[in-house]
Amino acid sequence: MSALFPTTIAGSLPKPSWLAEPDRLWPAWRLSGAELAAAKLDATLLALKIQEDAGIDIVTDGEQSRQHFVHGFLEFVEGIDFDRKVEMGIRNNRYKAMVPTVTGALRLKGRVHAAEAQHARAHTTRKLKITLPGPMTIVDTVADRHYGDRAQMAFAFADLLNAEARALEADGVDVVQFDEPAFNVYMDEVTRWGIEALHRAVAGLRCTTAVHICYGYGIKANIDWKATLGPEWRQYEEIFPALAASRIDQVSVECRNSRVPLELLTLLKGKDVQVGVIDVATDAVESPQDVAETIEAVLRHLPPERLIAGTNCGMAPMRRDLAEAKLMALGKGAALARQRLA
Ligand code: ZN
Repeated sequence: MSALFPTTIAGSLPKPSWLAEPDRLWPAWRLSGAELAAAKLDATLLALKIQEDAGIDIVTDGEQSRQHFVHGFLEFVEGIDFDRKVEMGIRNNRYKAMVPTVTGALRLKGRVHAAEAQHARAHTTRKLKITLPGPMTIVDTVADRHYGDRAQMAFAFADLLNAEARALEADGVDVVQFDEPAFNVYMDEVTRWGIEALHRAVAGLRCTTAVHICYGYGIKANIDWKATLGPEWRQYEEIFPALAASRIDQVSVECRNSRVPLELLTLLKGKDVQVGVIDVATDAVESPQDVAETIEAVLRHLPPERLIAGTNCGMAPMRRDLAEAKLMALGKGAALARQRLA
């Protein structure tokens, strides 16, 4: 692994069009049954290969086996009625989504990501990261007719996430990352119970743990929301001190084309930071120079040994050719930044 500025992606990559509808956040699968199961694993191999060829050090399964980053987990949870979908404003009403209903005590039906994690582990020698949705983000993406309290329901989900995370560690996964875009929306709840829920999710893990917080995929609702946030995005300021004090090893944040003041990164003292140096909300492909410059700007506020270069967010809804070009820029840009520093 690269000694300085190892590279990774937030998690997802676009799916091949023979697996799922392209350019969609909620794509329909093109196959079913055993054919679909085999196709997901084939796509996982491709995702590993393009990451390796791009010089990505900490690779993921590209989230090729899940339709959506939250619902890919919920499918494996008992106590949720998928036939009882209600329209709910999520992320504090930034957009409406049809969400399933929690109708009883939550239990895992079995393993969630065993097939793709074990397949990926068998086919790459690089460090392997698997992502899971964070408890707060899950709670914000379901309707509750059972728990009656967001924190209590989050703790129940956290215990299920913990069971899957421990199993992933046993599969040989090096990094388990929890995706918590909701951390950026409910800042007061992060300190009240969000970190506590994450701690339950990572309890007993010896592998590296990470949390990804972000301003979302490059979809219209997010781009419109970002336009309302003013010239400086200081949401992270409220939650970084709590994350710095937490037991999570790494924090993944967006820095490319972001209005997050980079000096806020000093609030993450002691944490490794996955710095987003690739924007997923534009089709413009970064040059290696762009990537190196973002890394250099961040280095004014973060010790070099704490910096992991990554993408701002998942690439699932992007065009495949663009995502691959951006991966190449990430690998080359991190190499360039290493060279310039040496
Ligand atoms: Zn994200």
